[in-house]
Amino acid sequence: MKKIAVLALQGAFIEHEEMIKSLGDVEVFEIRKKEDWQQHKDGLIIPGGESTTMIKLLHELDLLNDIQTAISNGLPVFGTCAGLILLAKNVVGESGVQRIATMDIEVVRNAYGRQLGSFETNVKMKYVSDSFLMTFIRAPYIKSVGKDVEVLAEVDGHIVAAKQANQLVTSFHPELGNDASIHAYFLEQMVK
Ligand code: GLN
Repeated sequence: MKKIAVLALQGAFIEHEEMIKSLGDVEVFEIRKKEDWQQHKDGLIIPGGESTTMIKLLHELDLLNDIQTAISNGLPVFGTCAGLILLAKNVVGESGVQRIATMDIEVVRNAYGRQLGSFETNVKMKYVSDSFLMTFIRAPYIKSVGKDVEVLAEVDGHIVAAKQANQLVTSFHPELGNDASIHAYFLEQMVK
């Protein structure tokens, strides 16, 4: 049975756990402290929330390097929203901030601004769905990608989902709502 770790320091981790569990034949456990990380895992989910808070906690718990090394060594990871920000090599205006930084993407935080804030839209996501209901909550977008990154979805000319080898990111929240097809893609196609 596949074992999926969910980073559970802050943010929308419970919704991810429930969605992954709904796919059956999978075990889920939470990462809350360094000892949790020692357990065997076949994949990792980094949820949405507040990226600055999550980065601070990852430093305090001494988890940042462990996570970074595991992903660099091929651990499949799925990051949503703040999780995408944590995985980004570059974030506009935040060059001094230490992140997991394993994915070759440049990200703009809180990109949809205050007026729009949160919104939903149906968009095609490559490999997954012709029409996926995407929920954006003070979301980032991907401004540019490196040559090894594949763009999977765009909204209004901005990249909102991408993949680089073992890493999958969305700037929206697929764990909110009823469509588990992105989680199924991660679990079935990326987690070995
Ligand atoms: N605005 C948040 C950040 O910058 C991300 C929002 C989210 O995860 N829903 O960290």
